[in-house]
Amino acid sequence: MKITMLGTGAALPDPDRAQSAILLTLNNGRHYLFDCGEGATRQMVRANVDPASVGFVFLTHLHHDHICDYPYFVISSWMLNKTGAPLLLGPKGTRHFVNHLFEHGAYHTDFQARSAYPVRQQNLEAMRPEVLEVSPGVVFEDNDVKISVDWVEHLPREVCECFGVRVEAEGKVIAFSGDTAPCEAMVNLARDADLLIHECTFPESFIAHRAKTGVGTYSHTSPTALGEIATRANVKGLVATHFGHFDSTSPVLKRAAAKHLPVDLMGPHLMDEIVADIRKHYGGPLRLAHDLMRIDL
Ligand SMILES: [Zn+2]
Repeated sequence: MKITMLGTGAALPDPDRAQSAILLTLNNGRHYLFDCGEGATRQMVRANVDPASVGFVFLTHLHHDHICDYPYFVISSWMLNKTGAPLLLGPKGTRHFVNHLFEHGAYHTDFQARSAYPVRQQNLEAMRPEVLEVSPGVVFEDNDVKISVDWVEHLPREVCECFGVRVEAEGKVIAFSGDTAPCEAMVNLARDADLLIHECTFPESFIAHRAKTGVGTYSHTSPTALGEIATRANVKGLVATHFGHFDSTSPVLKRAAAKHLPVDLMGPHLMDEIVADIRKHYGGPLRLAHDLMRIDL
């Protein structure tokens, strides 16, 4: 199988990172997309994947940096002659999100205009996602793949359920955290996994700053805690991702982040701090994700 890190950034617009999106491609060519943040569709094309060939999407939670490319993905797939309804799995609220997007929602005018063309009428089902709102446990299983999820700790559950994921396919196990503070559920989902792809939003120095200034809430995993999770789960490899723009050199991003991040500290050198802190507790194979990074398992 092949994993393509389509987007590795967090919630702000970042010139160097698209937002969260991970594409798993099995040896038989089947694609499974986990999260669909800004840039996911364009990144698929850059990775030589036709969005119309991606029939399965799982949304870990409904923060915009995990879902905002979804309408673009669906409309692009329609225009790229996708056949069949796209399958969308996600937390409670996913159906509401989809029902307010397409022919009865925000893109009603686009749907009306575009569906007037005979060629677009041939695959209207591509604009009508089949939605499954999931609960902890096995959420999808076929001959190729088994996908289990559990609640992780990111948002209050009454606001939005947030899921971590365990995928079993081709005799391998891959776990993906979504966004979360350190939690037992993620350790269990990642148990003995061949690869754990886990969020690592801020370096320790940023977390210390945010604690001191009282800016922002914190429901992410620190690099030190991530090392502990990887070791406790006994994973065979770790990919850190969902970086909160701390490595950016963009003046626009720095100005935008000034209210809640220690801008003077920002820069690519912080990746060294990230690695050193993960390494306090984890000695196995480690990679820091960048956009379009490809992992063959
Ligand atoms: Zn996020």
